[in-house]
Amino acid sequence: MFQDYYSENWYQATDKFIKNAQGRGVLRWCVVSGHEYDIPYLTIGNGENLVVINSGVHGIEGYFGSAAQNMFLDKMADNLPTKLLDEYKIVLVHVINGWGMQNRMREVMDKTHGGLVDLNRNFGVDFDNKSALPQNPKYDLAHDLLLSRPDKIKKKNQIKEFRQKHLRDGVWSAISYGQYKHPYGLFYGGMAPMTENKMALSIYDNLMCGAKSLTSIGLHTGLGRFNRKRAYVSSHLLVSHPKQHENTRYFSDMLRGTEIVSDELAVNGPTLLGDLVDCLEARYATPKLPVYTADFEIGTGEFPIMSPIYKRMDMGDARYDLINHGKINPQTWANLTESWYPSDVRWRAGALERAHILFKEMFEELTKKAQR
Ligand SMILES: [Zn+2]
Repeated sequence: MFQDYYSENWYQATDKFIKNAQGRGVLRWCVVSGHEYDIPYLTIGNGENLVVINSGVHGIEGYFGSAAQNMFLDKMADNLPTKLLDEYKIVLVHVINGWGMQNRMREVMDKTHGGLVDLNRNFGVDFDNKSALPQNPKYDLAHDLLLSRPDKIKKKNQIKEFRQKHLRDGVWSAISYGQYKHPYGLFYGGMAPMTENKMALSIYDNLMCGAKSLTSIGLHTGLGRFNRKRAYVSSHLLVSHPKQHENTRYFSDMLRGTEIVSDELAVNGPTLLGDLVDCLEARYATPKLPVYTADFEIGTGEFPIMSPIYKRMDMGDARYDLINHGKINPQTWANLTESWYPSDVRWRAGALERAHILFKEMFEELTKKAQR
């Protein structure tokens, strides 16, 4: 049953991953002393071209990524052609943000500097030079409203108006680009590289020794639609380059059943600040070593227009609760969880179906490449 792939907490998810990994490849661990959440990763095959599927960068997105990896191991890993595994090494990195999963937070808590750090805004940033940290003044315009006192009707309408007003001047979209100014603001990138960031990059560094190419996909939820009436779950592959870019073409040539979302604004550099996919590219890509990166996104937004409003509002409400009451109100928490990781069984099943399509197409195409 597909439900068996999902878990209730990090410990259970990790246990399932280890059991499913048995006999299917080489299991390694990234461990940091004093850090509770070790990161297991499994390598299958011996090729010099690396294909990495990572999960759990954002804790609030729940156990979809973990479930997709468990499904892959259980249903698909035993049938991978030898030719594919001679050319490629497939790696599953299980749950980068264990603390976030266990505590149902998108972010990680920075115990040294304070604040909630979004790991996907924390990668590849030069934190040594504090005066040169990336700026996002457009975010500032929304900060106070997003973190204002929770009020379902009034606050929702205010955010709705704000969105209406700032849909075309780039302010609304800039909210999620990342910022390094408000430790309890949304999409905060932090003051220093987080432990999870260092662990993830040490795994990649290790794997990249002697590699000839890297294809890396992160498993996420939250972008796109979940149509409850039709029980339809959308899937997107989010790339951080315009349509004509080599990275975008690599994935669109490979995938038919997954919609590719390109970023037309990312002409002179990445739109998102401190995200993993751009960091990997900057870290490893050379003219001789191609790096292709993307995030796979499962849709959760029931109402296409209201969904981003509710999501931003829930994130802001959770911060208001934390700052003013020391803990998140159960209702805020339920809203936050539901909007990123729906409990609906049809969503859970649909999400895994979409992941199955992605893996199937990807490994079929890579097998063709390996046979050439
Ligand atoms: Zn995410």
